[in-house]
Amino acid sequence: MTDSSSSHCVAVIGGATAGAEIAHRLAQRGILVAVFEQNKRPYGKIEDGLPRWHERLREKEYASIREKLSHPLVHFIPATKIGRDIAFAEIVEEWGFACVILANGAWRDRPLPIEGGDRYVGQGLVYQNPFVIAFNHADDSGFAGERFDVHDDSIVVGGGLASIDVAKIITLTCTQRALAERGIAIEVTALEVKGIPKILAAHDLTWEELGLAGCTIYYRRQEDDMPLVSIPEGAPPERIEKVKKSRRTLLKKASEKFKLKVEPLAAPDGLIVEDGQLCGLRFRRTRIEDGRVVATDETFERRGPVVISSIGSIPDPIEGIEMKGELFNFTDWSYGKLARYPTVFSVGNVVTGKGNIVASRKHAGHVSEQAVEVFLGVSDDPVAREEFEPPGAELAESVADQLTAEPTISAETRQNLLRRIAERQSAVAYPEDIATWLESVGGPC
Ligand SMILES: Cc1cc2nc3c(=O)[nH]c(=O)nc-3n(C[C@H](O)[C@H](O)[C@H](O)COP(=O)(O)OP(=O)(O)OC[C@H]3O[C@@H](n4cnc5c(N)ncnc54)[C@H](O)[C@@H]3O)c2cc1C
Repeated sequence: MTDSSSSHCVAVIGGATAGAEIAHRLAQRGILVAVFEQNKRPYGKIEDGLPRWHERLREKEYASIREKLSHPLVHFIPATKIGRDIAFAEIVEEWGFACVILANGAWRDRPLPIEGGDRYVGQGLVYQNPFVIAFNHADDSGFAGERFDVHDDSIVVGGGLASIDVAKIITLTCTQRALAERGIAIEVTALEVKGIPKILAAHDLTWEELGLAGCTIYYRRQEDDMPLVSIPEGAPPERIEKVKKSRRTLLKKASEKFKLKVEPLAAPDGLIVEDGQLCGLRFRRTRIEDGRVVATDETFERRGPVVISSIGSIPDPIEGIEMKGELFNFTDWSYGKLARYPTVFSVGNVVTGKGNIVASRKHAGHVSEQAVEVFLGVSDDPVAREEFEPPGAELAESVADQLTAEPTISAETRQNLLRRIAERQSAVAYPEDIATWLESVGGPC
């Protein structure tokens, strides 16, 4: 283990895109960083969110995370879930960290908004996160999580980018299966790259001949509200119309290439249950008024072999962190500050909610530069120091002042902290360096 003459030690909870980014930035400033990761591998949504056909992007992001966590001042502590293996309050208040960064992402599915819906999880209702995780690990014999059958004509409730990926998983998997029945072996990844019609044409087949229905996404807004291209903040009406046109074009292309359909202006409204099994949903027609979704009196029913709910991910609660509805009760959303813990900051998906890889990384950089480095007194940007006034966090300011005035932790605190890190690493049989660890746990490294 690398000791350090560093003035501070910082804990990061979650070792994926955002966590690795901030850990590396702080380590480059000479700060000793302990990264706690609940899984054996630190790739988060890159491994378990992004569908596995994004092969090159995944490889690139794996390499980037690995490299950042390999910094000699970063101490990786895998297979350690904060809130289960170590209490959150203990990390913040007892270990001796100058501050704690939440980089734990959003791993819980937002519940299907129908009373009693969750009773049918596993009986006709599936949530997006476990569904995508299972798809990504379909060929991984060591995968211990839940596996799901993929059914043609599934009902997907959603509208975001992830719901398009869910629909693609269904149509691509069903096409692969139908081709295999005809003696044609093809990887899902190859199907995704070329698209279903091209592959079928190469085998003198048509979609109709496969006899598949495809997959429909039920969306409560209009098709051109789907965030396939984002609208810049403050964009004038002409720009908004242009973006909406691109969205319609992209959606049309995706529908043709992947045989998925979108039923807009349809909000889930009721369950269709037979013999204790969810076998469809009742939808309510909506209309959009001044950008708001308004329910109408019209309803319709849709049956299907499975309902997949893909309406967004929210943070998994951690005992000790106050919630406000589905989200952590941040008093300041720029830096992810919590009223009760003035030395805690948050980065990535846990704060940004939706977002993407670049957004998570940029947010981690922003919080590091504008808040954490200033807070720790290691920023070389005096302007940032002056501008650091997190709303409603006077207490944090006073802690920041103390830290800057007295920047070093005592040798004893540091030794205690290093001992605790080493004890936890030893409890999970972590062998000193991340490369050896990743090799030993198998899977993509
Ligand atoms: C289906 C799908 C498709 C996507 N496609 C794209 C795409 O094409 N392009 C793109 O840019 N983005 C895409 N994204 C979004 C992108 O993957 C995420 O926005 C980004 O990877 C989030 O990074 P993060 O570090 O903020 O969070 P995460 O990657 O979620 O990292 C959080 C980490 O914290 C760990 N953790 C959680 N709780 C604890 C705890 N209590 N203790 C210890 N560790 C904990 C987790 O195991 C995880 O490793 C997609 C997402 C999904 C779901």
